[in-house]
Amino acid sequence: MLIPNQISVEKLSYELWEIQGVQLAIKRLDQIHPLASGNKFFKLKYNLEQAKKEGKNKLLTFGGAYSNHIYATAAAAEQEGFQTVGVIRGEETFPINPTLNAAKEKGMSLHYISRSAYRDKESPKFIDELREIYGNFYLIPEGGTNYLAIKGTSEILSNEDKDFSHICTPLGTGGTFLGLANSLLHHQELLGFSALKGSFIHQEIDGQLKKFQIETHGKTKILNNYHFGGYGKHTAELLDFIRWFYLTFQIPLEPIYTGKMAYGVLKLVQKKYFPKGSKILLLHTGGIQGVAGFNERFGLSLPL
Ligand SMILES: *Cc1c(COP(=O)(O)O)cnc(C)c1O
Repeated sequence: MLIPNQISVEKLSYELWEIQGVQLAIKRLDQIHPLASGNKFFKLKYNLEQAKKEGKNKLLTFGGAYSNHIYATAAAAEQEGFQTVGVIRGEETFPINPTLNAAKEKGMSLHYISRSAYRDKESPKFIDELREIYGNFYLIPEGGTNYLAIKGTSEILSNEDKDFSHICTPLGTGGTFLGLANSLLHHQELLGFSALKGSFIHQEIDGQLKKFQIETHGKTKILNNYHFGGYGKHTAELLDFIRWFYLTFQIPLEPIYTGKMAYGVLKLVQKKYFPKGSKILLLHTGGIQGVAGFNERFGLSLPL
């Protein structure tokens, strides 16, 4: 079993918010495990249990070259005694980036495929090809989102969070959002800040809510205007915001998910979206492992 660390909920004190009558706090899911951090811990937890039940000793999953999911899977699997294969989108690069290097050091075999092949990665034909090469593996989908992942992310909110009126999370594949929606209380509103460009995400999430038969007790909302140009894209304003957040609260964020979410929440506070008396919980979903590679790639020195 993956052993969780204690996670804290930290109050974010800022005079302007006090004057406005709203309270903000951040739940440090990034502290839950030294390597399998953030929401990925919750997504992996029941999948690893299931793989063990099925007697599988090998896991295979998919991801981009800087993927937190790849990193967390490699780390958790090594600890739990699984072999792993990571099917990586795009060509192999030299030198290898810090994320994939860490995954490799944790024993993951890396299997690179072209971007076009990646689009068809879940076709039965391709999976069969992979089985021929790697034998009998337990398959974890891209981003780690499946029924068991949602079972895990349904445990992110706990009894001690019941007084919050708003829960704010970044949104990628939606597995985290769905688990949160599943465990939401009737007086709570869930805000998902999409890290991807485009309004397709509304339909995508609606479809998944149906597929996984989730009927939330609270209210849910998806915001898709805080993506800063799209997945993995950034602007100087976003980077300045991440630096400001670190200087003010001593909490590192990363530019793919948590930085965009926190920026969006603070903009909504500014726009008076949250009524007086709101208690707003931001979820720090982790991902700080990716900052080293980001800094290297863009010649930056964001805090980590
Ligand atoms: C993967 C990831 C997300 C997105 O989670 P989904 O469940 O795919 O929506 C958000 N934040 C961080 C830090 C992540 O690594």
